[in-house]
Amino acid sequence: MALHIPTLLVVSVFIFSLMGLLTFHAWLRERRERPLAYLGGMMLLAAIGMVLVSWRDQGVDFVPKILGNMVLLLSAALNWTAMRVFAGRAPHALGLLAGAGLWLALCMIPAFYHSMTVRVTVYSLLVGGYGAVTVLEFWRSRQSLEVACTPALVLTVLHTVFYIVRSITDQGVGMSQALKGQGVGVPFFSFMLFEAMVYVIGIAYVTLAMVKERVELRFKAAAFCDALTGIGNRRAFMVHGDHLLLKGRDQDKPVALLLCDLDNFKRLNDAFGHQTGDQALIAFSQVLSQTLRKDDVFARIGGEEFACLLIDTDEEEAVQAAERIRESFAHLPLLAPGLLSVSIGVVTSQALGYDLSRLLSQADEALYDAKDKGRNRVHTRSWRAPARQLG
Ligand code: GH3
Ligand code: MG
Ligand code: MG
Repeated sequence: MALHIPTLLVVSVFIFSLMGLLTFHAWLRERRERPLAYLGGMMLLAAIGMVLVSWRDQGVDFVPKILGNMVLLLSAALNWTAMRVFAGRAPHALGLLAGAGLWLALCMIPAFYHSMTVRVTVYSLLVGGYGAVTVLEFWRSRQSLEVACTPALVLTVLHTVFYIVRSITDQGVGMSQALKGQGVGVPFFSFMLFEAMVYVIGIAYVTLAMVKERVELRFKAAAFCDALTGIGNRRAFMVHGDHLLLKGRDQDKPVALLLCDLDNFKRLNDAFGHQTGDQALIAFSQVLSQTLRKDDVFARIGGEEFACLLIDTDEEEAVQAAERIRESFAHLPLLAPGLLSVSIGVVTSQALGYDLSRLLSQADEALYDAKDKGRNRVHTRSWRAPARQLG
C-alpha cells in the first residue's frame, strides 16, 4: 500500500515545524540544555528541507536537488550534534558541515547531478553515516549518561539501518511521479516520509524524557549534597542511613554510629576568620572520605557536626575508626598543633537496635560526655550507662 504522498509531505512539514518550535520553546525555558536547541534546529531544518526538495518542475532544479538535500543533510548532522552534546561532548563543526559540503561538491559533477540513482545512494549513505555516528555517541557514553538511553539508541539504530537498506535497494523516484503516486519507487518513497515522521516524533519524545530525567537527577543530587564540603547533607544521611540500617538488620550485621562535633569551632572562627573555619570543615570531610569505607555512610548533618554509619562494625572497631578520625584531624597541617580537634560519640546497633533517631540521640549523649570530659576524645554510650540498661 502506498500512502498518499502530497498528504504525507504536508503533514510532515507541519509536524516537523510544530515539534521544532516546541523543542526550541523547551530549550528557552532551560537554556543549559543545549541538546534541545540542536534538536529543535534539526526539526525546523527538516521541515524547510522537505519544502525545498518538493519544489520540482518550477525551473529551479538546483533548489530541490542541491539546496533541499543540503538542508536535509544539515538537519541529520544537527540530530547527531544534539546527541553528541547530550553525551557531554562539544559540537564538531567540521562534521556538522561535512555532509552538506560533500553534497554541494558532488553536485558540481554533472554525472552525479544528473543521476537520480547515484544521488539517492549517496544521500542515503550520508544520512546513514550520521545515524551511525549518533549511535556511536550513545555507545561511547553509555556508562556516564546516568539516564535511560536505550529507546533513543534503538530508534537511531532502526533509522540508520533504514537508510543503509535504502542506499542498496532504492533507485529513487522523480518528485513529479511521487506526487502523482505513479512509479516503481512510490511505495518506498511514501514509507520513507512515514519513517521520517515516526523517527522525528520518537527522537523528540525520548530526548525530552532523557533531558528531564537528567535535570531531576541533578536536582536530587544537589538536594542531597552539602554545598561547602561536597559530601552528603542531613537529608542524605537520614535517607541513606535508614537504608544502611535496614541492610545491617537484614544481614544481621552490627552497625555503628559516630557523631563528630568539631571542638571550640566558634573560637576558631573568631580567631582565624570564617574562611579558615570553612577550610577546617572541608578538611574534616576529607578525613572522613579517606578514613571510612566505600559502604559506610557519612554526612555533614549540621554546622560543625558530622555523622557516620559504619556497617559490619562492632563497638571496638567503631572506637578504633573514631580514634583514627580524631588523630588524623588533629594532625592536619592546616593550623598549629592543638587548634584542630574533634569530639566523637560512638554507639552501636548491638546495644540500641537499628533505629536511626534512637542511635542519633544516644550518640549525642556520648558526644556530650566527650565534651564534658575535656574534648578531643572518643566516647561510647556504654561509658555512661551499660548497654543492657538501655535496651
Ligand atoms: P564545642 O566544642 O562545645 O562544640 O564548641 P563550638 O564552638 O564548636 O560549638 P558552638 O555550637 O558554640 O559553635 C559552633 C560554631 O560553628 C558556630 C558557628 O559560627 C560555626 N559554624 C557553623 N557552620 C559553619 C560554617 O559553615 N562555616 C564556618 N566557618 N563556621 C560555621
Ligand atoms: Mg555543634
Ligand atoms: Mg563544636
